Order: sequence, then structure tokens, then C-alpha cells
Amino acid sequence: MRGLMMDRPLMISHIIDYAAETFPDQEIVSRTTEGGIHRYTYRDAARRSRQLANALKTLGVTEEDRVATLAWNTYRHFEIYYATSGMGAICHTINPRLPVDQFAYIVNHARDRYIFTDLTFVPLLEKLHGMFDGVRGYVIMTDAAHMPETSLPNALCYEELIAGQSEHFDWPDFDENTASSLCYTSGTTGNPKGALYSHRSTLLHAFSVLTTPGMNLSEESALLPVVPMFHVNAWGVPYFAPLVGAKLVFPGPALDGPSLAELMNGEGVTHAWGVPTVWLGLLAHMRSSGESFKNLQRVLIGGSAAPRAMMAEFKERHGVEALHGWGMTEMSPVGTLSQLRPQDRDLPLEAQLDIKAKQGRRLFGVEMKIVDEQGGRLPHDGQAFGELLVRGPAIISAYYENEEASAKAFDDEGWFRTGDVAKIHPDGSLEIVDRTKDVIKSGGEWISSIDLENEAVGHPEIAEAAVIAIPHPKWDERPLLVVVREPGSQVDKQGVLDYLSERVAKWWLPDDVVFVEELPHGATGKLQKAKLREQFKDYTLPQVSG
Ligand code: ADP
Repeated sequence: MRGLMMDRPLMISHIIDYAAETFPDQEIVSRTTEGGIHRYTYRDAARRSRQLANALKTLGVTEEDRVATLAWNTYRHFEIYYATSGMGAICHTINPRLPVDQFAYIVNHARDRYIFTDLTFVPLLEKLHGMFDGVRGYVIMTDAAHMPETSLPNALCYEELIAGQSEHFDWPDFDENTASSLCYTSGTTGNPKGALYSHRSTLLHAFSVLTTPGMNLSEESALLPVVPMFHVNAWGVPYFAPLVGAKLVFPGPALDGPSLAELMNGEGVTHAWGVPTVWLGLLAHMRSSGESFKNLQRVLIGGSAAPRAMMAEFKERHGVEALHGWGMTEMSPVGTLSQLRPQDRDLPLEAQLDIKAKQGRRLFGVEMKIVDEQGGRLPHDGQAFGELLVRGPAIISAYYENEEASAKAFDDEGWFRTGDVAKIHPDGSLEIVDRTKDVIKSGGEWISSIDLENEAVGHPEIAEAAVIAIPHPKWDERPLLVVVREPGSQVDKQGVLDYLSERVAKWWLPDDVVFVEELPHGATGKLQKAKLREQFKDYTLPQVSG
């Protein structure tokens, strides 16, 4: 027997309509690419999104057309999210720091019709335009006064494009499983692979994030996504913040510590989401300037493992609760969030950090299993670890037009292979041990590069650390620790090893420590281990060479 409830589809356009009606005066504040701060409201954002949808129609954009963006987190990018998906087109966010060949590959693979770009990326597009097959034109996200001279063909000005357009647009209702947006993962090998989200998956993901304990978002919150809107839809922030009427604060291109601190304190930011690298920069600035956060209550740290020392500094120095999140582009992206339960609040800080250093409990709608090398299920006992697989309504069922990658990504039961090695504890919390390709296989045992890195950055004179596997004739692989010192630090190899030897098993100790000025990072601030391995491909361990 079917339930007798209305079959109303879950549509992204319903989010912006709801926010405009329910929280019309709530603010959206952006640091702009042109300079200065822009502020308006959800009502304004909805109105301009409808104008943009009308403008897209005049450009000939129709349902299913891919419209690309190359842009920072700002109000105009937010409008494009809603206008494109709302009219039935597909918002394809592009990571501007992709290598040139991958960039051209995804524009052509997605068959993007138009590219919306911030001023910052106009010179880049001028260089790349010749490599694109089907792009009809470009929309430069600025006003007439700031329009640059450009060699890009059919370059339009965003503000001129929407000016004069009708403020009325009837967002169509259609099948909620229709594609809404597209984001490619920057694969370390081979071409990038596209995750094609739907209206339904986007809304279910947004609901799940909001119901996660400890999120505490409401009309009284001000949320700053440092995580870029070109990376997995800024982890869903632009979709779930409007559902609760939170103030949105967009940082634009200024992601350095001083700029973020100024914006956060100036706009009363209570919640901020980003990867560890941006928090490193922000915390270093707070330390050196002696400033404190005025309103900040919670930071979400995700995208790579959150270092304990970072979570401890947020708590002890600033009284800010750090939540640790794990997820993937293919998962919309949030899979788990780690935060304290009521009964954990009275635990000593170290015990609290033990809980938060894990990746946390799953979101509703994310099922998890760990398996051994034959695919057999492993127990959730906090001891056994193996490859982690997931399934759920906001997890991809295939890569976009990529049969080869899709064929490898799922097991016989249809679960998605995350490529992570993990433990699951009896209380349901996930503990990521490593990436399957980063784990160090030493003498038949596994060493977690992530655990070693986290211990290393706990050293007060280490700013950043990375561990990679180096081939070893006897043990197969041994860990090499690559370190960036804090400014002015003289810490040496022995100092680092002495520090680590009190904290990790003896056989985990890196065979060598190398000091560098900087480590390679991707566009989202994530450490690029593949690049680092490339950098150290001719390196031999001292015990081996000597
Ligand atoms: P990309 O696909 O470009 O690597 P993703 O954001 O999809 O970018 O990366 C997902 C991967 O990042 C996860 O599979 C995991 O290996 C790693 N990751 C994300 N969050 C965490 C975390 N909190 N702890 C450890 N690893 C994480």
C-alpha cells in the first residue's frame, strides 16, 4: 500500500524561496574581488538569482546545460548556484588551481556552455580558451566599472547581464533526481572524475548536516565557509545555511590569517568551516597579534585529519569547540562528524581530544562498512582495520560519463570504495587510519602516515609535517618525515626523533627527517602527497645509502 502523501519533489529552488520568505532580512556579507565588503539579504539574493535565471535563458541556456564557475566564495557565486540549478541547468564548479591539462579536460568532458569567472581568473582563461571545445561565452563576475580589457570571446559583464531582467521567474518543479551540480575530484592519477549531484541528494545532505548533534546552527548564527565553493559546494554550506536562516559571511579571495580574523570579528562569525591549513594560518596570526575571537563558537575542521594540537589550541586559547569532519567529493561530501557527547563534557582535555581526533559518528543516511582484502566484513571493534566502503542517498552511484572509473569504484553489493583505510569503534565512531595509497607498508605491518604527521605537528617548533613511504630493501617501505619548521626555529632531526620516540611505537619512528621551506598543497589547502612523493622519488634513506 502506498502512503497517501503528496509527491512534491525536493528542489534546490525551494531552499532560496524558503529563506527569502522566512528569513528575508538575514544578511549575506561578502568580501569582494574588486575590494571592499558587500552586504545584502536573503531576499536580495533570491531576487537576483531569479534575474540571473532570466538572463541565462536569454543566453540560450536550457535544462541540463552545464554552466561552469571559476570563482571565490561571494554572493555572486551563491546566486549562480541557485539560478543554474533552479532553472534545471547544472552548476559545474571548477577548481582554479587545477593543472592546465586537467582544467581543459574537465571543461571539455563536462561540455560546459558558459563559464562564469571572477576577475582573478580572467588571465588564466585567456590562456586556456583555445583548449576548450564548446564554450560559447564568458560572464565576468563584476560590474561595468571594473570590466577588464579581455581577449576572451563573448565576454559579458555579470551586473550588466542581470540588470533590467525581470525579478519574476517561476522555478520549475521536476524530478528531484535530476542533476543539479557537478564537481570533479582532483584525482592524483589519471583524469579527474565527476561527481554529479542531484536536487534530492543535495537537500538530503543539507538536512543530515543540520540534524547532526553539536552543529547548533540557527538564525542567531553567522557562518563563514572558508572551504571554497569550487570544492564540493563548500561542503554544502550554501544549501544548509539558508534552511536555518544563518547569516552567511563569504571571505572572497582573502583567505590569509589577518583577513579572516578581521572579517570574523567584524561580522560576528560564530561558526567557520575549513581545512586544517587555513586554520594553521589563522591560529598563527592570532598568536602573533595577540588577538582573540569575539564571537566564534565552533570551527569545523575537515578535508584531512584535524591535528590534536590545533583542536587543543582552539579550545584552550580561544574557548572554541572544534568539530572534526570526514568526507569525500563523492559523498556530497560530509560522512562523519566528531564532537563530544553530553557525558564527555567533564572529561579532561586530553580525553576529549582522543574522541575528537577520530573522525566521528556517521551522518544520517551514511552507512559504513570495513572489509579485509578479500572483501569480507571486519568487526566494528575499534581494533580491526581495512578498506572503508559507504552507501547512502547522497553518495555517487557512478562517476559522470566515466565507465572505467565507475567500474572500479563499487563492490558487488553496490557500496562505494572510499580508498580510505579505517577502524570503526563499538560506539559507531570512525577512525581513519590512512589513505590506501599513503599507508606505509613496513615488514607486513601498516604504519599510518596520518598518525605520524599529527604527532609531529604537536611539536611546538614544527609548523607542518608530511610522512611518505620510501622503498626499503628489507622492510618494503619505511616512513620519511618531511617538516616545515616554525619561523625562527632551529629544531633538528634528533630533536624531532626524540620528541616522537616518546609518542609512537619504536618501529614507527621515521627513518629520516628532512626540513623544507614549504610542502605542496592543492587548491583546497590539502597536502599533495603525490607531488611530495614525486619530489622525493630519487631520495634514499640514510641507513640504506650509507
Ligand atoms: P579529493 O577527492 O580531491 O582528494 P576529497 O575532499 O574528496 O578531495 O578528499 C576525500 C579524502 O580526504 C578522504 O577520502 C580522506 O582520505 C581525506 N579526508 C577527508 N577528511 C578527512 C579527515 N577528517 N581525516 C582524515 N582524512 C580525511
